[in-house]
Amino acid sequence: MSKPGLMPVEDALDQLLAMANEQRLPDSEPVPLNEARGRVLASDLVATLDLPPWPNSAMDGYALNLADLHRQPLSVSQRVYAGLAPDALLPGTCARIFTGAPLPNGANCVEMQENTEVLEDGRVRFLQPLKVGQNIRAQGQENRVGDTLLRAGKRLGPFELAVAAGQGMTHLPVVRRPRVALLSTGDELVEPGQPLRPGSIYNSNRTLLDHWLRELGCEVIDAGILPDRPAQTRLKLEQLQVAADLILTTGGVSAGDADCLGQVLRDNGKPLLWKLAIKPGKPLTVGHFGTVPVIGLPGNPTSALVTFGLLARPYLLRIQGVEEVMPLSFTVNAGFDWAKPGSRREYLRVRLEGGQAALYPNQSSGVLLGATWADGLVEIPENSTLRMGDPLRFIPFSELF
Ligand code: AMP
Ligand code: MG
Repeated sequence: MSKPGLMPVEDALDQLLAMANEQRLPDSEPVPLNEARGRVLASDLVATLDLPPWPNSAMDGYALNLADLHRQPLSVSQRVYAGLAPDALLPGTCARIFTGAPLPNGANCVEMQENTEVLEDGRVRFLQPLKVGQNIRAQGQENRVGDTLLRAGKRLGPFELAVAAGQGMTHLPVVRRPRVALLSTGDELVEPGQPLRPGSIYNSNRTLLDHWLRELGCEVIDAGILPDRPAQTRLKLEQLQVAADLILTTGGVSAGDADCLGQVLRDNGKPLLWKLAIKPGKPLTVGHFGTVPVIGLPGNPTSALVTFGLLARPYLLRIQGVEEVMPLSFTVNAGFDWAKPGSRREYLRVRLEGGQAALYPNQSSGVLLGATWADGLVEIPENSTLRMGDPLRFIPFSELF
């Protein structure tokens, strides 16, 4: 059980995905393959070619018809290189053939060259027992014309794009990029390149989220830094709502900021989520400004990282139509003791060492450096203690991009 008044992360995720399902981005656009990486396929990719388009050799060797084997040694009647269209196999002969070359009509077997002996007169003797179909890649063994190769909603990476290229496609229809207005709130923030004032710090969340959003196929509308003042916050959200599919903010959601963003969202309807039973990341705020969804991440860099990865990321994938939005995770063994149970589920930065999860020594939510050291997050269940070696769920950072 979570602490009363705090929302379990699963419930928050359900609500965010329900919001995303209502908000799916319908429009799609054709983009060249070399610009499609990280985008989401808008309609099924159906094969227009059999692959392979014709039977071909899986080996460098000799193609023959097994009915001729009793007449061996066989003379070589043609040489078939990849890229050539062969003649039909002359009865009683074999063909020299190379990997990927089309099988001559009439041949039903390929023997690899290592299992043959070439006599002085050039005829070929086969040294091993042979089988029909051996070392032949059948036409359509990978796919047939009309097969659905990729479903709408698939995120496009190198594998998917290569499959499309294998069908001869130059473009793919992809879902329009979500337009995300990114806003950093905090009186203390200064952009890199500007002089630091006493009491100020550089804005690191903007860089973190700008890159991460682009990885997830989003277009970023950089809305800069906003001071912690409700009137200015409201004004800014009013401007941003026109162009954005989502307004993503950091900071200004915890009690110390007088909950500036929460105030504005409550004045314009009520926040949907507010306070999660996780650590770091408790003060996540989600709502709408007008009709535009707003996700307010906490300002601490690691809190922003954890809540973005666990909650905003699945939301952003789902509005693009992705079904499988959850990162793969697997079980690892704790490389540490955890003696003090916490009332919130905790996400710790760990590195995998010898099959065990080693903790970054400083788990403060203000410390971003641990994320560069770590391989991912482990989840410590609420109200639990752990002993060295106990199983834990591990989410690799690589799964979150
Ligand atoms: P807040 O959620 O606004 O209360 O901020 C919590 C902590 O995160 C404070 O120490 C802030 O200075 C810090 N913080 C907030 N926004 C940023 C940012 N964009 N980059 C780096 N640190 C930040
Ligand atoms: Mg703040």
